[in-house]
Amino acid sequence: MAAKTDYYETLGVDRGADAAAIKKAYRRIAMKYHPDRNPDDPKAEDKFKEASEAYEILSDQEKREAYDRFGHAGVDPQGMGGGQGFSGGFSDIFGDVFGDVFGGGGSRRASRGSDLQYTLELSLEQAVKGTTAKITIPTNVGCDTCDGSGAKPGTSASTCATCNGQGQVRMQQGFFSVQQACPSCRGNGKTIDEPCSKCRGQGVVRERKTLSVKVPAGVDTGDRVRLSGEGEAGPGGIPPGDLYVQMSVKSHPLFERRDADLYCEIPISFVDAALGAEIEVPTLTGKVKLKIPSETQTGKLFRLRGKGIQPVRTSRTGDLICRVIVETPVKLNGEQKELMEKLRESLGESKHAPQSHRWFSGVKKFFDDLSG
Ligand SMILES: [Zn+2]
Ligand SMILES: [Zn+2]
Repeated sequence: MAAKTDYYETLGVDRGADAAAIKKAYRRIAMKYHPDRNPDDPKAEDKFKEASEAYEILSDQEKREAYDRFGHAGVDPQGMGGGQGFSGGFSDIFGDVFGDVFGGGGSRRASRGSDLQYTLELSLEQAVKGTTAKITIPTNVGCDTCDGSGAKPGTSASTCATCNGQGQVRMQQGFFSVQQACPSCRGNGKTIDEPCSKCRGQGVVRERKTLSVKVPAGVDTGDRVRLSGEGEAGPGGIPPGDLYVQMSVKSHPLFERRDADLYCEIPISFVDAALGAEIEVPTLTGKVKLKIPSETQTGKLFRLRGKGIQPVRTSRTGDLICRVIVETPVKLNGEQKELMEKLRESLGESKHAPQSHRWFSGVKKFFDDLSG
């Protein structure tokens, strides 16, 4: 290893600099030379690493004192300190300094297992009233034999020598140098000499897990419920991610939902439509009566206030909107046909069918204009 630059010089601060000044100086340098901003620039990366190492030491009271007294030998992983130096803590620096800048992710090592998503099918009634659903998901859970370490009980994992515990290495591919997961430890930063026999060193085992999901009343398709810590356990004993349960509401034979409102189509006889009637309509809480006034046309909407849904995030309860469809009678017997013939004669005049009258007048004018 080449001779190292003085840590204070690297950060451009004087030896009496306080913690805030050191952090500020590191942040400035690291922002400039961060690998995410300087892809495939080894010089920038070297500067970034140097600054990170300097910060790692100078931001730690104990390490800084050791460095002040013994120089690099006091803190070098290859020196007397043995393992006290630049091994762990890298991700902590990122969390501390970059938490608000790079927003996590990036080249940081995973600190949690993966999040899982599960789609839960619900009937409209379940979605509206809320329910408790049992779900079974295949997932990784921490191995209980080795407590997630992956090492055989009684032994322990050791820091990976290839990546020095970083979990990532630079590989030369032609002209490019790319960062990738360390092949020796597969990104864990640790290697296991004697793997646990149950999980074969993975620290996690595949299991089907049954969970109870409380679905609040009023959810709709696309709404999600988060079960914190019920995602996949990560390797090496890192805590599990979250489970997101996404709602999918099945279509209903009678009702269609649009946000808070319910829509329903109701067929009525042409006699009821003409003379008026009181009919029963279904709601999610039972039947209610609906008065159909005389001379009701097909397609007319009737709004039943408060008979809709109260969505999970609002306080307003929606309405039930009924659309009546006037049905033409079928399978008429002789007597009925006779009555209808009489009705047709009787209704002959246009005043009983203003819509038809307007329409036929329009058609007549259209042809008159064409020929005129
Ligand atoms: Zn195990
Ligand atoms: Zn490694």
